[in-house]
Amino acid sequence: MRALMMDVPLLVSRILLHAAEYHGDTAIVSRSVEGPVHRTDYATLHERARRLARALLRLGLEAGDRVGTLAWNSHRHLELYYAAGGAGLVCHTINPRLFPEQIAGIIGHAEDGVLCADLTFLPLLEGLAGRLGAVRAVIVLTDEAHMPPQPAGLPPLLCYEDLLAAEAPDYDWPELDERSACGLCYTSGTTGAPKGVLYSHRSSVLHAMACCQPDVFDLGAASVAMPVVPMFHVNAWGLPFAAPMVGAKLVMPGPRLDGASLHELMAAEGVTFSAGVPTVWMGFLDWMRETDATPGALRRVAIGGSACPRVMIERLEAMGVSVLHAWGMTETSPLGLANAPKAKHAGLDPAARLDLAARQGRPLFGASFRILDDAGRDVPRDGRSFGRLMTRGPWVASAYHGLEESAAHAEAGWFETGDVATMDADGYVSIVDRTKDVIKSGGEWISSIALENIAVSHPAVQEAAVVARPDARWGERPLLVVVLRPGASLDAEAVRAHFEGRVARWWIPETIRIVEELPHTATGKLLKARIRELYAREADNPSP
Ligand code: AMP
Repeated sequence: MRALMMDVPLLVSRILLHAAEYHGDTAIVSRSVEGPVHRTDYATLHERARRLARALLRLGLEAGDRVGTLAWNSHRHLELYYAAGGAGLVCHTINPRLFPEQIAGIIGHAEDGVLCADLTFLPLLEGLAGRLGAVRAVIVLTDEAHMPPQPAGLPPLLCYEDLLAAEAPDYDWPELDERSACGLCYTSGTTGAPKGVLYSHRSSVLHAMACCQPDVFDLGAASVAMPVVPMFHVNAWGLPFAAPMVGAKLVMPGPRLDGASLHELMAAEGVTFSAGVPTVWMGFLDWMRETDATPGALRRVAIGGSACPRVMIERLEAMGVSVLHAWGMTETSPLGLANAPKAKHAGLDPAARLDLAARQGRPLFGASFRILDDAGRDVPRDGRSFGRLMTRGPWVASAYHGLEESAAHAEAGWFETGDVATMDADGYVSIVDRTKDVIKSGGEWISSIALENIAVSHPAVQEAAVVARPDARWGERPLLVVVLRPGASLDAEAVRAHFEGRVARWWIPETIRIVEELPHTATGKLLKARIRELYAREADNPSP
């Protein structure tokens, strides 16, 4: 029997309409590229997004055309999300930290019709002159007073504020198919060329609804949310859609992501919730320690993108800030797992509670997970058995843009994440490694993430990477490479001693290198392939 409920499509424009109608005077505060802090609200954002939609269509863009963005977190970037998606175009967020050749490749592959860039990124675009594919205009996200001269070899530069001023705000958002694309983001892949993930209106709205839940970001009309995670990396984890959905105040940090700048903005605006990768929180915590600052209104931070070290959770919680460890991927919108305790965990002692909090979390409703062994069988949910983590759900990619033939899933209907994981009887998943990074020593697994977490819990260690090095006797052995905190001194023996009693003896790396810095991907993850190349030659390393 067919049900008799209204078939109202889930569209991102409806989120903004709702925010403008019921939370019109709720603030959106951005640190601008030009310098000053800018203040607006949801009603004004809606008006400007409608002007922008008209301006984009006037440039000749048609349904499904891509609008590229090279921009920090700001109200203008937010307007672009809604104007492009809402008008039936696709907002293609480009990660400016990728190599210039990759950026040119992505712009060409996405066939971006227009690029919208912060002033900061104009030199980058000038370096790509002549390689911008179908781009017919570059909209500079600034006002007339800050417009730069037209550089040679680039498509015409247009002034964002002038374009908006020239349009009327009476645009009606079209009734689109909820399965049509509204966003595009390329993976920052540690190996291989970046691949495009096309988000739909439906997937973005459902994902945002999941983000707001108490056991996820816990957002409501009284929240003040600051996405530190960039809007060019998986839609800032859905916050640009989730915050307006519930009428939360939004605080956008712009280009300045150091501890001092983040803290200043947080304190001034009463930020209660923030989200970002561990590297950002490491900088923030170090700055807090040096200056004896307090976290103010900050109550909760979501940490993910790479494993959140246990010691980071410990330090934040000691300040009264609860940590939500979460797991996700570009292909999963990104949220799939979030770590909130269950009622039965209330009595856990502090060490056991931290152990639990350091896991990546439980599946959100809407994202299903399986862990398969090499033969394709589900491994037991005992918290110990490892396997390949698979996921499926309405906000998980089914294929990559332009690679529709090679569907993104390995087993029918399931997306292969490329992570190795365990799950316990309560559904808590621990990520052990990327499939290609896992260390197999004498036929047994060693988790590089577990070893890295122990290394960074040493007060003198700033960052640590563990990779497999070939070994004649054991097949592979772990090699630890560490970067020390500025001014700290420590030798390999002292690092090794720190592992004693914290992990099985045969897991302890016999080779430990202390280096100045480690290579990272454009999203701040360790570039393990490069670290192996640099340090993991068998001849240079002893057998245990
Ligand atoms: P990306 O698509 O660039 O966001 O990268 C996704 C990958 O980041 C995942 O497949 C994981 O390997 C890793 N990742 C994300 N969140 C976590 C986390 N909380 N712990 C460990 N690895 C993570």
